[in-house]
Amino acid sequence: VRVPTPANEPILSYAPGSPERAELKKTLDRMASERIDIPMIIGGQEVRTGKLGEARMPHDHAHVLATFHNGEASHVQAAIDAALAAKAAWAALSFAERAAIYLRAADLLATRYRPILNAATMLGQSKTAFQAEIDAACELIDFLRFNVSFAQQLIAEQPISGPLMWNQLDYRPLDGFVYAATPFNFTSIAANLPLAPALMGNTVVFKPSPAAAFSNWYVMELLREAGFPAGVINMVQGDPAMVTDTVLAHPDLGGVHFTGSTTVFQSMWRTVGENMRRYKQYPRLVGETGGKDFIFAHASAREDLEALAVAIVRGAFEFQGQKCSAASRAFIPSSLWPELRDRVVALTEELTMGDVRDFRNFMGAVIHEHSFEKISAYLELAKSSPDTKILAGGKADRSKGWFVRPTVIQSENPASRLMCEEIFGPVITMHVYPDDRFVETLRLCDSSTPYALTGAIFGRDRAAVATASRELRNAAGNFYVNDKPTGAVVGQQPFGGSRASGTNDKAGSFLNLVRWTSPRTIKENF
Ligand code: GLU
Repeated sequence: VRVPTPANEPILSYAPGSPERAELKKTLDRMASERIDIPMIIGGQEVRTGKLGEARMPHDHAHVLATFHNGEASHVQAAIDAALAAKAAWAALSFAERAAIYLRAADLLATRYRPILNAATMLGQSKTAFQAEIDAACELIDFLRFNVSFAQQLIAEQPISGPLMWNQLDYRPLDGFVYAATPFNFTSIAANLPLAPALMGNTVVFKPSPAAAFSNWYVMELLREAGFPAGVINMVQGDPAMVTDTVLAHPDLGGVHFTGSTTVFQSMWRTVGENMRRYKQYPRLVGETGGKDFIFAHASAREDLEALAVAIVRGAFEFQGQKCSAASRAFIPSSLWPELRDRVVALTEELTMGDVRDFRNFMGAVIHEHSFEKISAYLELAKSSPDTKILAGGKADRSKGWFVRPTVIQSENPASRLMCEEIFGPVITMHVYPDDRFVETLRLCDSSTPYALTGAIFGRDRAAVATASRELRNAAGNFYVNDKPTGAVVGQQPFGGSRASGTNDKAGSFLNLVRWTSPRTIKENF
């Protein structure tokens, strides 16, 4: 077989008067007026327990969008059994047949499901139309199409053979099942975490974030309609610790595909270590975790000051800063400071925030109360620290939704908590360094956090950019020159970081798919 050569899905504009805008508005209205009931999906069956969780709009937290059913350990066990039962038939399908299901899912999403997944992501996760479009539509379509193409390239990779002899690599799935535990912040990632392993023939227990239960339900509907057989992807909900402990205690655990917090992933490694003797194999642990992503300016960025200011504001505040990749610290040379500060503050103060159904808003609310409180505590810290100053924002209002104003902080101390800890909200802390301490400050940027996900250098001086690239080589898995550190595109910028940011198994590239196969070498003499 030869699968179609993929191209990135074009981003629709949603301009006033466009057909996509009208369709999206209609879908938003419909979804906001119904209150659906979301079951678990185990072995293709809808399972309801009556132990209900609620999906609410972050920007209007009194509004319940849906209820969803939480399971017990017995349901998780049933999902594992269903995955194991579906495994043989799924793994035995030819690659072309699996590919067809993925390509059909991509086309369904590009057309009929596009307004559905976008509206669900806007209402349930408080993304603006643009942020939803690049996530729930374009990136997810790209994951589906590009992964098919990457998998084909991978399978084509074969050893050499000799006279009267043939060597082959048989790309088997992992033995057992895969556990996909997914984040709220990207509908595309939540879907890709079960989908990438399944493409290589694995079957999956999928635990979405309860904060994304709403959009993730529509992902399951899309996959069912695209033709995924029952049991290939089983969706469970429930107490996260209970679900994870049940899954990680199972002897047939083949691997974990995780995106979420560093502490949760570290605790999974510990549990896997403790359970090691129970397993039939060494489970593959693939995780993308926290970040404290930087924008570093060199004095030679003067000519690009406007681009730098825009990168800081977009990198820090799009989707309320709730991206692992979000810019959350900046290092600015003193020669650029007053002008840059004024521009960043002015741009920040212009940002509109509110209900994402009003398409003029640049920002929605942060995801839930826990997040609101955590971010608010950092704002309090900024107010009470003698070496920090709030330049813009600093306010939060919980009365209708979980709204936090985009906040710009200046920190004299480059090692302050605000400069080093992940906040996961619309907050950026900037540190001004003397122009002649460029290299020393690069080293500080490298060593002052445990993370290494994304980062950016701004500068026109090629030698300075090369120095930054060298000094920061291990400080970011995705390194951007003269661009914001967010917005990796599938097939263009494979995404992932190292150190406390994850196992760096590059989502959106064949490197990720390698982790979901356990190849068998076959030598045959003729
Ligand atoms: N891939 C996204 C980006 O490049 C970030 C993913 C995440 O936040 O986990 O902005």
